[in-house]
Amino acid sequence: MKILLVNPPNCGRSIPEERYGLNTLKQIFRGEPLGLEVLASYLPTHEVKILDLKAAPEQLPDAISNFSPDIVGFTAMTCEANTVITLAGQIKQITNAKTVVGGIHASNDPEFFNKPMFDYVVIGLGQRSLPELVQAIENEQTDQVKTGKIHGIAATNPNKNLIWTKRKFSTHEYVTAPVPSYNLTTEYRDSYFLPKLNVHMGYVVTAYGCPFNCSFCSIAGLTGGKYLCHGIDNVVRDLQALPQIPFIRLVDANTFGSIDHACQLCQAIKNAGIRKNYLIDVRADTVVHHPEVIEQWQQIGLRSVVIGFEEISDKRLTSMNKQGSSTLNEEALAILNQLGVTVVGDFIVDPDYDENDFDQLENYIYSHKIDLPMLTIMTPLPGTALYTETYDKITEFNLDYYTLTNAVTATTLTEERFYSRYADLMQSCHNKAKI
Ligand code: SF4
Repeated sequence: MKILLVNPPNCGRSIPEERYGLNTLKQIFRGEPLGLEVLASYLPTHEVKILDLKAAPEQLPDAISNFSPDIVGFTAMTCEANTVITLAGQIKQITNAKTVVGGIHASNDPEFFNKPMFDYVVIGLGQRSLPELVQAIENEQTDQVKTGKIHGIAATNPNKNLIWTKRKFSTHEYVTAPVPSYNLTTEYRDSYFLPKLNVHMGYVVTAYGCPFNCSFCSIAGLTGGKYLCHGIDNVVRDLQALPQIPFIRLVDANTFGSIDHACQLCQAIKNAGIRKNYLIDVRADTVVHHPEVIEQWQQIGLRSVVIGFEEISDKRLTSMNKQGSSTLNEEALAILNQLGVTVVGDFIVDPDYDENDFDQLENYIYSHKIDLPMLTIMTPLPGTALYTETYDKITEFNLDYYTLTNAVTATTLTEERFYSRYADLMQSCHNKAKI
C-alpha cells in the first residue's frame, strides 16, 4: 500500500500576541519527525513517504496528487490537533485515502479525533498497532478494528463513543526494532539545524515512556506508564545511521530512567568509537543519585542536559507530583555546574502567579548558573491528571492555544500584567542564554 505520513506544520495560536502585541512568545518546533521515521520502518513491505510540513508547509496538495496514497497518517501534539483535523478534512475532499491519526494527543484524548475526516485513531505507541491496521485495510478486514481485535486502534464513529482495546506495552517488544527510516526525510535534513550552535541535529531514541507520573505530563499515555528501553545494539546502530550529524538529541522523555541501561549504552558507544555531542532530558534525582553516569557520558560527548526543575516552591512541586524538591534541584544544578555540562532548565509558570512569585522566579534564575532557562505556562493537557484537577478553572478550551505559552486557566494577576511579566522574564532568559 502507498502510505503518506504527515508531520503537521508549526501552528498554534498566541493569546499574548493576539491581545497584547507580544509576539516573542510563540513556540517554534524544529527537528525531524522521529516518530514517523520509526513507524515507517515498521512498514517495510509498503511504499511509505514522509511529508514534513514543519520544514515544507505548502507541500500537502502536491504530495497527495503526485503520490496518490491509499492511507494518510498524521501525528499531532495537542496544539496541532485542530490543524490536523482541517488537513484531514481537505484530504477527504480530494481523495479516497483512509486517514489515520496518532501521536501524543490521540493517545491521551482519542475521542477528540472521533470525527468524520478520520477513519482510525492510533492510541499509544503505534509500532505494533499501525502495521496491523495497514494489513487489515489491505486485506479488507477492517471489521477486526470495529470489534477491538487490533489493540491500540479505534475506528471512528462520530455519533457514538470510540470502541477500542488498550494495547499492553511489553518491555521485550521494544528491545529490538528496525533502524528508523531516516532516509525518508533526507530532503528536509538541512532544516533540522540548531542556529545558536550552528550544527545539524539528529534525533535518536533510547527509551520510550516514563515511570513517573507528574500531574501535568502526557507522556504516560504513550506507553501506559511503562518505561521501555531500546536495545543497546539498536541505539548504537541508530547513531551510526546518522554519520554526518554531529549533534544528537536523545528524544526520550526521561533519558537514564534505567541506570544499568545508561551505563551499558555509554560503554557500547565508547566501544563503537562514535564521537558525537548529545543533548538529553534527565531528572534532577538521577543527576544527584548518579553523578558518575553524567560524568561517564560527558566523556563520550554529553554536552547539554534538559532538566525539569519546574518550580522553585516545594509546595508547588508536591502538587505537581514531581517526586522531587527544591533542594534536590539545587544539588543537581551544582553537580552539573561543577562538571561543566550545559544546563537547559525547564520552569513552569503557574497562571496563579502573583507579582511576588514572578519576582522570586526571576531572582532564582538570575542567581543560579542555568545556561538556558526555558519557561512554559502550566497547561492542563487533556488526558492528564492536571486536566481533571483544574477542569473547572479552564477558561480556554480551544486546543490551538495549548502551546504551553498561553494561560488557558484564569490568571491571578490581570491577564495583561501576567503576560507582561511572562514576556519580560522570557526576554531576560533569552538574554541570559549561554548555549
Ligand atoms: S519525569 Fe518528566 S517525563 Fe516523567 S512524568 Fe515527569 S515530566 Fe513526564
